[in-house]
Amino acid sequence: MTNYIIVACSECEGYLLAKSCQKSRTCPYCGSRVLLEKAKKVASSEKADEASMILRKLKERTAAKSGKAKLQKLI
Ligand SMILES: [Zn+2]
Repeated sequence: MTNYIIVACSECEGYLLAKSCQKSRTCPYCGSRVLLEKAKKVASSEKADEASMILRKLKERTAAKSGKAKLQKLI
């Protein structure tokens, strides 16, 4: 069974989704290689849709914290 994990990039702290069978992922935000066993695991799920939902919520929270959400609405 495949587990989906959400890890935080060690370089930019951005959240990314990966499968537990993978060893590394390239961060979609800063392009650095993230080693999954060394990265900070934020959440995990057995279902892909559930994992992506968690990821979306994490991103929303991060955006709200940094004020980017407000800025995007203004533009
Ligand atoms: Zn990154």
